[in-house]
Parts: sequence; C-alpha cells; structure tokens
Amino acid sequence: MANNPKILLLYTGGTIGMIKDYQTGALRPFNFEKILERIPELHQLGCDIETISFEKPIDSSNMNIPYWNQITEIIEQNYQKYDGFVVLTGSDTMAYTSSAISFMFENLQKPVIFTGSQLPIGDLRTDAKENLITSIHIAASQNEDGNPIIQEVCLYFEYKLYRANRTTKINADQFEAFTSMNFPPLAESGVKLKFNEHLLLGKGNLEENLVVRKNMINDVVILKIFPGITETTVKAILNIPNLKGVVLETYGSGNAPTKSWFVNLLKEAIDKNIRIVDVTQCAGGSVILGHYETSQELQKIGVINGKDITTESAIVKLMYLLGENLSFEEFRKYFELSLRGELT
Ligand code: ASP
Repeated sequence: MANNPKILLLYTGGTIGMIKDYQTGALRPFNFEKILERIPELHQLGCDIETISFEKPIDSSNMNIPYWNQITEIIEQNYQKYDGFVVLTGSDTMAYTSSAISFMFENLQKPVIFTGSQLPIGDLRTDAKENLITSIHIAASQNEDGNPIIQEVCLYFEYKLYRANRTTKINADQFEAFTSMNFPPLAESGVKLKFNEHLLLGKGNLEENLVVRKNMINDVVILKIFPGITETTVKAILNIPNLKGVVLETYGSGNAPTKSWFVNLLKEAIDKNIRIVDVTQCAGGSVILGHYETSQELQKIGVINGKDITTESAIVKLMYLLGENLSFEEFRKYFELSLRGELT
C-alpha cells in the first residue's frame, strides 16, 4: 500500500490558474510550480504532488481534439508513476473535455479528476482552493487494499463529485456551476467526504491494461430542432461536406416533426452513412424511441437512441465511435450501450 499517494496535477488553463495583480487589477497566469507555496494546506493531504502545465495555457473555449490528445498522452506517459491525476481546465467546456477523456481511456483503473473554478485562485473569495484541495484528496483516496477508490474520469465542483460524462455546465455565475441530472453524485464533500461506493465504476482488476483511443473524428454537428425550423436549414446542415455524424436534439422523450420532408432528409443522410443520434433537449430524463408516433418514424429509418446521455457526452461519444470504423449495426450497438457509465 502506498503510504504517500503520488498525484500529478495538470494545468491546461482557465480561470483557476489566474491571480489578480492588485496594483493593475488585471488577471495574470499563476505559476503552478509554486502551488504548494501558495496553498500550504496541500501539505496536510499527505500526498506527493507534482505539477505539469500546458506550455501555453488556454481558455477552455479553445479546447479541441489535439488538446484532448495532449491530455491523454500526458496521463498515459505518467500512468505508472502516479496514483491519481487532477486535471485543471476552464469550466466552460469542462463537461465536453472530461467526457471526451472518459471515452479515450478504456480499462482506466486510476482516478482522473477534472476541476476548475469560477473565481481565480488568487481571489479573496475564490472557490478554487476548495475545488483543488478536495479534488486532490479524492484522487489520493485509496481502499484498505491500496487500490484507488475512484477508477474513472470524474468532475469535482462545489462539494460534489460527478461522473464526468454525466455532467453539464448549468450556471455562469454561481459556484455551483455543474450538475448531473440523470445520475447521482459519486461523492459529496461535507464535514466528511462521503463516497457513494455502489455507484462507482471499476473493481480494481489490475490485470487489464490501459487502452488509449486517440482517433476522434470531428466531422459532426449538433442539430437542435425548434418549432418552425425550415427544410432549407435542415437540408443545409445535413449536406455539410464530409459530415459523418449528427446529434439530433429533439423534444421531450425524443420527439421530432413528422413532416415528410424532415423524415426524408434524415433518411437520405442515414443512407449516405451519416450516423444520427437522438438526444433530448430536456435537462433531465431519457429518449424513448417509438414511445410516441413522433419518434416511431425516426426509429424506423435508423436513428440511434441516445437514451439519457447528455448532449456533451453524445457529441464526444460520436467523435470517438466514428474513429473506430464500425459497421452501422456495431455503431448502433456501442452507442446504445453504456461504455463508461454515460447512459442508463
Ligand atoms: N472562460 C474560462 C474557461 O473556460 C472560464 C473558466 O475557467 O471557468 O477557460
């Protein structure tokens, strides 16, 4: 059993890594090498923390597949050396990034905890300290047998640990910036840090090796329908050159217009090998394809059932599975199956 768990802290950018220059009032990047000096409380966690930073930290609005590959490569290269990983990114696209990383790692048996903050680490009222300290604490938490308690990709924010691929950013102002509507928190941090162990993935079978998937394809689009959407709009979107996948954001439990032009356009796209996944625009709940007449047609023409997956998770799962060269039937099977706990 490791007495002092080793944690790698990776800073990619975002508000959390800023400090305020009180003379000019401007925010400037904080040197993460100095994290232990800045937050001496971290010493009390009883773990060895090392930091690594993107050469040029980014605002998470600029996040993309090459950066996701970079994050996975850093974790992969350091996988044996560390007991857990904490990844700091801006909160704006954290739900997408952490979901993407969850698909990119297969057989993950160590914690990868994403966190960030609404206020910079150098701000008096910052939420960064709590988010960071508890994320490291979670990444370092082990069972009595020395295995990590968390063996999946998670997102920690404002006292709650969520399965990453279940999260959505719901608030631009409040400290409680994230939620997971369709799956309960994996842990809650109050006076005690309480894990909901029955909800966790992974059972500590250290025999299987980590598999890293880095073939994501981004010829995809999110098509959100709305009352009055025109044929011209849908046609233009479905005819984007090279388009390979669509997340179709429908109403309620997966319902869409029954007009023949709409269904025909989708069918033409599916016949051209474009994968179309039905997810709901509702914040919570699930698509039930075929439940209403308005989704029966979608089911018949080969629209894939996204069930209760979030849009963030659906778009990155689409990117991931498109990179795996699957037949239509295999693609449908894997999309509708929970691969990393992303759907029920
Ligand atoms: N715009 C910032 C970003 O996502 C906000 C944050 O750090 O939370 O990078």
